[in-house]
Amino acid sequence: MPVKGLVEKSWRLDASDIRAALGRARGASAAVLARRPDGGEPLRIEVTPMGGTNPIRVGVRYTIRGETIDDHLFLMGAAGGWFIACALSTLPGGCPRRGRAVHLPPTGRVFGCRKCMRLGYTSQRQPLAARIRAITGALARCEAHLASADPSRQCGAVRDARRIVRKLLAASSRRRVGRRQNTPD
Ligand SMILES: [Zn+2]
Repeated sequence: MPVKGLVEKSWRLDASDIRAALGRARGASAAVLARRPDGGEPLRIEVTPMGGTNPIRVGVRYTIRGETIDDHLFLMGAAGGWFIACALSTLPGGCPRRGRAVHLPPTGRVFGCRKCMRLGYTSQRQPLAARIRAITGALARCEAHLASADPSRQCGAVRDARRIVRKLLAASSRRRVGRRQNTPD
C-alpha cells in the first residue's frame, strides 16, 4: 500500500507517556501530550483508566478540528516496557500490531499504527529521490560515452549501464526485505 502521510507530521502518542501519566494520577484522569516530530503544535489527550491491569483499557479524549473524540486504547506491559495496541485492533478482523506508540495524521481522527495510518518517514522518501537523481546522472554519462568514437569509452558505457542495473536490483531487494520486517512502531 502506498504511503499517504509522514510520521514526522503526525501526532505520536507514546505508551510510556500514558503509563507515566496514569501512574501519577492514581486512578483519575490525566493529560498526556501527543507530539509532532516536526515541531508542530502538540495535541492534548485526556487519558482515563477503564480497567484491567495487563492490558489496561485506557479511555482517550481529545479535540481535533473542533470535534471531540472519545475512544479507547489498550496498553500492555511486556519485558521490553510498555506497548500500545493499534486502535484498529478493536475492529472485527482488526490490526494485530502493537508498538511503542500510535500515530494520528493531521487529517485523521483516531490513533493507529504506522501501517494502518499508511505513514512513512521522510528519510524513506529521500533515498529514493537521491537514487533516481544518481541513476539519471549515470545514464547521461552513459549516453555521452556511447556517442563517442572511442570503442573503450563505448565499452565503459555498457559497464556503467550494468552497474546501474545491479544497483537498482540491490535497492529493490532491500526494499522487499524492509517490507517483510514487521517493525513494532
Ligand atoms: Zn494497525
